[in-house]
Amino acid sequence: MNLLNKKTVEDLNVQGKRVLVRCDFNVPLKNGVITDENRIVAALPTIQYLIKNGAKVILCSHLGKPKGEPKPEFSLAPVAVRLSEKLGCEVVFAADDVVVGDNARKAVAEMKDGEVVLLQNTRYRAEETKNGEAFSKDLASLCDLFVNDAFGAAHRAHCSTVGVASFVEESANGYLMAKEIKFLGNAVENPVRPFVTILGGAKVADKLNVIENLLNKADTLIIGGGMAYTFLAAKGYSVGTSLLDAEKIDYCREMLVRAEQKGVKLLLPVDCKIVASFPDPIDAPIDFEVVNADAIPADKMSLDIGPKTAELFANEVKLAKTVVWNGPMGVFENPVLAEGTIAVAKALAQTDATTIIGGGDSAAAVNTLGFGDKMSHISTGGGASLEFLEGKELPGIAAMSDK
Ligand code: ATP
Repeated sequence: MNLLNKKTVEDLNVQGKRVLVRCDFNVPLKNGVITDENRIVAALPTIQYLIKNGAKVILCSHLGKPKGEPKPEFSLAPVAVRLSEKLGCEVVFAADDVVVGDNARKAVAEMKDGEVVLLQNTRYRAEETKNGEAFSKDLASLCDLFVNDAFGAAHRAHCSTVGVASFVEESANGYLMAKEIKFLGNAVENPVRPFVTILGGAKVADKLNVIENLLNKADTLIIGGGMAYTFLAAKGYSVGTSLLDAEKIDYCREMLVRAEQKGVKLLLPVDCKIVASFPDPIDAPIDFEVVNADAIPADKMSLDIGPKTAELFANEVKLAKTVVWNGPMGVFENPVLAEGTIAVAKALAQTDATTIIGGGDSAAAVNTLGFGDKMSHISTGGGASLEFLEGKELPGIAAMSDK
């Protein structure tokens, strides 16, 4: 699939047309209040472009997991309010339990050019996650054109990301989607080298395909976080009570060999921060020691990379022209065990290289540390960005019209 060959919103003639936009408004809510509006802000450029160019803008999104039933706690009503503040214009909320119901039809029929309607949570409909034809047709009946701007849901073939595209005149990627494709796509398929990738997080098993794909693309693969210990075990080190995926030791051994054969530099921790037991609660004060990676005592667990490793990884980042980072280097939820993750985040913040954060925990860590604006791109989709790094085709992008 040539991702860069897909139509974007600017390729559509939107004046006077009813344009359905699939956004990712899956924002965190606490007691009905939006606690992080990043996803709403990220959706604004496409919506503003459509308003300015005289489209009738119909927005849809999922929020949480209502599992195919109308559940008030997953209503998009708070998003409509916040969105209208951000846009500085009214956003009519069509509160239909069936998403495309009387309210939505009436609101759309009454729209003038440049006006905005938001539909109810698409996952109120059971067909949504099964890509059922009836709901796809319902959505398509409201619009002439379809724009997908929900990168965070692009790895799912649902009615509102894929199905609807078959029943409209034309479909295209929005600005956010195009930006994600540009950064992630170029990094993986056409990186400015040296291309350094940093993987962390809890388990090797979660990222098997990512490791394999990146071994074919990257110049250097850095492995930290909980997944590093299975690699250290594969090197024959004792890892004490650290996180270990015993079934994947052979796989890691194979990856070490493959890296060597391909001339990919594969870096693992050389020292570790060890503790007696996992902190409970996770951010509780905790005593630690630093030991070399081949000297973890049998009764201790490593929960962060040590300072020598942090320096080693940071130095490698300095040599890079493109860096992709996914997953924390340690149990960053605890301040004592966040230092490795902070060191890597700092190294990325200080380099002139193109720096891409693969969403999820790493994106949260970078934003919390205040380095967000120092990164070239922070992906809005954890799962979708991982599938991108695995080299998989994302159905939500594949379904858009070719140029
Ligand atoms: P991202 O969201 O950036 O893609 P991720 O969410 O996929 O990363 P996970 O696989 O969910 O990453 O792992 C993140 C979790 O891994 C964090 O909660 C962190 O505490 C934990 N973790 C990191 N290092 C260790 C370690 N050494 N031992 C145990 N858990 C660890």
